[in-house]
Amino acid sequence: MHYLVTGGAGYIGSHLVLALVAAEHQVTVLDDFSTGHRWATEGHEVIEVDIRDLAALRSALSQRHFDGVFHFAAKSLVGESGQKPLLYYQNNVTGTANLMEVALENGWGHCVFSSTAAVYGNPQAAAIAEDHPLNPVNVYGDTKLAMERLLSAVHQQGAMHAVCLRYFNAAGAAPLAHRGEWHEPETHLIPNILRRAGGEDRPLTIFGDDYDTPDGTCIRDYIHVLDLADAHLKAMAMLHRQGGFHTLNLGSEKGYSVREILSACEQAVGAPISHDIGPRRPGDPPRLVADASQAEQVLQWRTTRNLQAIVESAWLWEQQRQVLL
Ligand code: UDP
Repeated sequence: MHYLVTGGAGYIGSHLVLALVAAEHQVTVLDDFSTGHRWATEGHEVIEVDIRDLAALRSALSQRHFDGVFHFAAKSLVGESGQKPLLYYQNNVTGTANLMEVALENGWGHCVFSSTAAVYGNPQAAAIAEDHPLNPVNVYGDTKLAMERLLSAVHQQGAMHAVCLRYFNAAGAAPLAHRGEWHEPETHLIPNILRRAGGEDRPLTIFGDDYDTPDGTCIRDYIHVLDLADAHLKAMAMLHRQGGFHTLNLGSEKGYSVREILSACEQAVGAPISHDIGPRRPGDPPRLVADASQAEQVLQWRTTRNLQAIVESAWLWEQQRQVLL
């Protein structure tokens, strides 16, 4: 099969590209390199285009056949989304509409979409299932929900089968293949901890230790990026078998607190990591843990890599990343 991966130069997209190649698929990456990395696309066909530009997208992709598209290209910083809402709507929502336009014109009928647990907003349950109310609390989550709804409406027109995969906290890396997480600015917990541990001159702050959780810090469900990639492959295979429109959570169903993550990182690094305690970060719910039973049923998929594998791979990657700097 030949697949198009939009956002294939980004963190999760570039790991999916590896998994597709390992499964002997042909891959074309589409990226505007606004946040993605050129080194992450070496050896693959790359189309450099901004998905907000429908004319450019059309001219780059017309007459091309793909057996499906994995759609990752999106802006994804919660804080930035509040400051630049139009950028987020244009990139994420208009970009997806443009992509669907071109997909339908060229007869590509299968799409696996990178969604997020941010569509749920503040959790009303200990484990969040797909039927949890959809109530995003930031512009990023609003745009991802709009993208899901756009895909659902396009599906109802009859020419597109789609799966929306709602990720919990993607983490870890494929350091043996020189892939890993590298955002600037970095906002995520594990890379922030490991960049500090690797000697970067940046403060590490735990955002709040007065939550109503066992150790007072927020609990999240961390999922290895390679487990995420496996789920994408299974989701695309399922679409080819049975079609339809599906929305599935991807998580490990295990919750770890910020302090537990810090101590797992200290174990991987083999040394204490200096940090301070700061105020709560606005908009952080105390606990977000997936109920991923639907994904297990529909895709026969479960996570296979535990927290130790996540932090050890992330630490190896951090040491490689320092060399790339
Ligand atoms: N966090 C933290 N310090 C950091 C980054 C994150 O204490 O430097 C906390 C954050 O408040 C949240 C958890 O770690 O409770 C996970 O945050 P992250 O940004 O990695 O993912 P999110 O759950 O916000 O998508």
